Amino acid sequence: MNAQTALTLQFAPAVPIPDYLVGEIRSKLAYVDELILSAEVSPEQITLHLSHPGAEGGLSAERRSEIEEKVQRVVLSMAKGAIKPKIQILEDHLERPVPYQADPMAELIARDEISQEAQGVFSLGPLLSQLIDYFEGQFIALADSFGAQPYRFPILIPARYLERVNYFRAFPHSLSFVTHLREDLQAIDQFSQQAACDEHGLQAPPDSFAQIQHLLSPAVCYHLYFALADKPLPGGQVIATAVGTCFRYESSNLVSLERLWNFTMREVIFVGSKDFVLENREIARLRMAQVFERLGLAYRVESANDPFFIGEFRKQVAFQSAFQLKFEIRARLPFAGSTLAVGSYNYHQDFFGRNLNITLPDGSPTHTGCVAFGLERIAYAFLAQFGFDPSDWPTEVRDYLQEHKP
Ligand code: ATP
Ligand code: ZN
Repeated sequence: MNAQTALTLQFAPAVPIPDYLVGEIRSKLAYVDELILSAEVSPEQITLHLSHPGAEGGLSAERRSEIEEKVQRVVLSMAKGAIKPKIQILEDHLERPVPYQADPMAELIARDEISQEAQGVFSLGPLLSQLIDYFEGQFIALADSFGAQPYRFPILIPARYLERVNYFRAFPHSLSFVTHLREDLQAIDQFSQQAACDEHGLQAPPDSFAQIQHLLSPAVCYHLYFALADKPLPGGQVIATAVGTCFRYESSNLVSLERLWNFTMREVIFVGSKDFVLENREIARLRMAQVFERLGLAYRVESANDPFFIGEFRKQVAFQSAFQLKFEIRARLPFAGSTLAVGSYNYHQDFFGRNLNITLPDGSPTHTGCVAFGLERIAYAFLAQFGFDPSDWPTEVRDYLQEHKP
């Protein structure tokens, strides 16, 4: 028998799962136990596909009930007493006709356009890179229309920064940690002689590594807020833009180019009074609506929530929804009959201003907001809607790629 034998566990959720939480709960189940390979969730039933080492005797009854108990804890925490958030739709162009219907992944693989290094980690070829450059040009033009100041931020982020903005509590599941070898000759010698990779990963003496001080950054705008922390906001308002590599570990939810561990975001960031941030967020949305109209993208802008971890989920989602803090640009994926968030319009109220002590001229904490675009996702959604034949593309995109041919 195979060392990894598949096993199915099926049971009813402790409380019925409302339709609008089915996807959120399914994606959280990936983090519940290392044996869970995938999960199917419906309002009345949960099916877990488990792996277990060795086939002899299968999985113990004790282990099964432990997994079921952990899953029920997730269900109760997220679904019990949950109130359906009102979905507000600001733009609806989901039904715009688009020329392509197939799954772009097959074609991308056939053309050697993507090379998968690990789950959720891809190298991208010339077509995707040029499409990304095209879309980045659009986002940079948006930033320029506000006179946004350009920034470049590090990929590492100190653990104490993330602690200050409550990140460990809100999104612990998606963190990516960084370490290095301890400054110790013996530890380095031992590592250099013993380090070897097997099917589980890198094997090395456990005391080789230094205490974790840094993580891989999960967002772009945080770095600006940290740069502005603990002082008055210069001139009372700031508009900035930056592109950055972001890391969010999404376990078995990492599929195709839709959900990556390592992805790129371009953000336009507004810091100032409440009105300043909200007005500019709205102006940015209206300007981007013109871009998407010109391209004929099939999409919708609707209210959304961040993927908070289980304990924080219910409270935070209700909060985000009540105050209309997040709207997503959801592009249609015709082949899947679904949508994919390619960007978001965010308002954080004075959360960062309060936690990081960034003050307005009147001494009150500053408000912040950002407009964030996922570059791999917008290129992927474009190919899902327009395909690979440039004669089916919007002229503007076709011309750009033609002009920038290597
Ligand atoms: P924050 O408010 O925490 O700074 P944000 O609002 O700037 O985050 P999100 O809305 O979480 O960022 O993400 C912005 C965009 O980044 C998403 O709309 C999506 O296009 C892209 N993105 C997010 N997570 C992933 C991922 N795992 N893989 C690929 N793209 C992603
Ligand atoms: Zn942001």
